[in-house]
Amino acid sequence: MLAMNKADILDLKKILSNPKKVVIVPHKNPDGDAMGSTLGLCNYLKKLGHSAMVIAPNDYPEFLKWIPGTKDVLIHEENTSVAEAHISQADLIFTLDFNALHRCGTMEIPIENSAAIKVMIDHHQQPDDYATYVYSDVSICSTCEMVYHFIEMMDDLEHIDVAIGEALYTGIMTDTASFRFSLTTSTTHRVIAHLIDVGVEKTHIHNAVYDTNSFGRLQLMGCALNNLKFLEPFKTAYISLTNKELDSHDFQKGDTEGLVNYGLSLKGAKFAVIFIEHKQEGIIKISFRSKGDFDVNTFARTHFNGGGHKNASGGRSNLNLEDTIAKFISILSEYKSELNS
Ligand code: 5GP
Ligand code: MN
Repeated sequence: MLAMNKADILDLKKILSNPKKVVIVPHKNPDGDAMGSTLGLCNYLKKLGHSAMVIAPNDYPEFLKWIPGTKDVLIHEENTSVAEAHISQADLIFTLDFNALHRCGTMEIPIENSAAIKVMIDHHQQPDDYATYVYSDVSICSTCEMVYHFIEMMDDLEHIDVAIGEALYTGIMTDTASFRFSLTTSTTHRVIAHLIDVGVEKTHIHNAVYDTNSFGRLQLMGCALNNLKFLEPFKTAYISLTNKELDSHDFQKGDTEGLVNYGLSLKGAKFAVIFIEHKQEGIIKISFRSKGDFDVNTFARTHFNGGGHKNASGGRSNLNLEDTIAKFISILSEYKSELNS
C-alpha cells in the first residue's frame, strides 16, 4: 500500500484545522464505490465541523439511496446553477474514484475553473495530473478503502462511526464483488473488521444493495443471459443488450450493474464483455472484465476510448451495436495467444 506523501498530509491537516467549504465529487454514473467513498468522506468532514457536500454529475441507482447522507446529495445535471455556485465558492474540492476530470462529465469545466484546492483520491490506473494533492494507489481494491486510510493518515480513526462506516463498507463490498476480487487483502478485511466493530450491520447493507431487485431487472438478467455468447478459441464470453430489450424490461439506472460478471463465471472464460446500447447518448457502453494477467485497462484504452483497472474497465463505441461487436471480434485475433496462455 502506498501512503499519501507525509508533507501533503501535513498540509491537508493544516488546511482542515479550521472550518472549510468542501465539495466532494464522484464520477459520472456513480456506482457503489463512488457514492460510498464520497458520502463516507463527507460524513467524516462534517463531523470535523466542515461544511461538506457531495455533488454528483448525474443521478445514481436506487439501491444506493439509503447510504447515510444520501438525502443531501446535489445532482449537477438536475440542479446546475446551485451546484456550480457551490463549486466556485468551495475552498477544497475532493474528486473521488476517478482518474481524469472528463470522467465527471459536464462538471469538468466548473471544477477546472474553480480556485479551490483540489484533492484526488483514486485507485484507477494512470491518473491525470489536475489535483494539487494526489492520493493514488492502484493496488487498493476500492476508493472507500482509500478514504479509510486517508482518515487513518489524518490520525482520526476514532471519528469513524456508523454513518461513515456504512458508506465505506458499501463501496468496499461492491468494488470487490463481496470480498472476492484479487485486490481484497488482509488489510481490506481488517478495515471491514473495524467498521463492523463500530456498529456497521453488514447483513443490512448486503440486503439493501443486492436484494432489492425489481421484477423487471431479474427478467432483464434472464434476457442478458439468453444473449450470452462464448468464443471458445478466445476464452471470451460476451453479452449484448439492445435499447429495445432495456425498454421492454422497464430499465432503471443500475439494472445492468454486475451483469458482465456472469460472463466471467462461465467455465473456461478469461475475458468477459457486455455491450449496452444507449440510444440517448448514441453510443454503445462497454464493460470489460478479465481473470489473471489479461489487461483490460490497456484493451479498453487502445480500442474503445476507455480505461479503468487491469481486471475491470469500461469504454464506448460510436458504431452501432452490430458493428461494435464485429469490430470487437476482429480485434480479438490479435490477443488469441495471450488469452490462451
Ligand atoms: P464499469 O464497466 O463498471 O462501468 O467500469 C469498470 C471500471 O472501469 C470502473 O472502475 C470504472 O470507473 C472504469 N471505467 C469505466 N468506463 C471508463 C472510461 O470510459 N474511462 C476510464 N478511464 N475508466 C472507465
Ligand atoms: Mn472504485
